[in-house]
Amino acid sequence: MTKTPQELALMAESGRLLAAVFEYLDTLDLIGTTTLQINDLVEHYIREDLQARPASKGQYGFEFVLNASINNVVCHGVPSPTDVLRDGDIVNFDITLEKNGYIADSSKTYLVGDVSLAARRLVQATYSAMWKGIRAVRPGARLGDIGFAIERHAKRAGYSVVREYCGHGIGREMHEDPQILHFGKPGTGLTLREGMVFTIEPMLNRGRRTVRTEEDGWTVVTTDGSLSAQFEHTVAVTATGIDVLTLRPEERASGFRAA
Ligand code: MG
Repeated sequence: MTKTPQELALMAESGRLLAAVFEYLDTLDLIGTTTLQINDLVEHYIREDLQARPASKGQYGFEFVLNASINNVVCHGVPSPTDVLRDGDIVNFDITLEKNGYIADSSKTYLVGDVSLAARRLVQATYSAMWKGIRAVRPGARLGDIGFAIERHAKRAGYSVVREYCGHGIGREMHEDPQILHFGKPGTGLTLREGMVFTIEPMLNRGRRTVRTEEDGWTVVTTDGSLSAQFEHTVAVTATGIDVLTLRPEERASGFRAA
């Protein structure tokens, strides 16, 4: 369940490339764009500009390089030529990338145009909740410490945490052990060790935490129709703390690194 220093160096490279994909997404004008158009632009960027492989395509029979989850969609939204992004939407793009045999996984929720204060608050709280989880990671910490930090932050902000989907170990495979729950009790669960690599990817809802899957077999929505947001990073446990492998330059610049 732990990676060698050589593997960690390769995973850091995959993470750096995936961060560049989000920098590219940041440059796009999303209003009026379909999620399928975004998918196709990102696929071209990963393959041609980065000379990497979009790891989600073909995984579990999925035909696209990203998930696009709009407003009440919690996760696993499927790119579509009929889903047009509109002023006021929030949309999460969840993207994986493989380079030299190692996979990185990250997601970011975007504000499309002029977004309501309520939606912006949810997105900001979700981002902060992810960082609360990241900051709980160090050698000797327990998995329950991560989930506890995330759920406590979410509850204090007035939001619920989705329980059906969790973070995961990652490496040569997209989904490896262990599972990283976004709720939990401090001091419980697996003890973190140097060389572990996994994702932290909380989903927060404005309403109830319950979700259901739509008839396409992929799209997961809130049962009460409330807004949902998500952020995700791939992180590695180091000798002294943590390395956020998919950290974006904007985050480094704004001091959002793990303390
Ligand atoms: Mg993931």
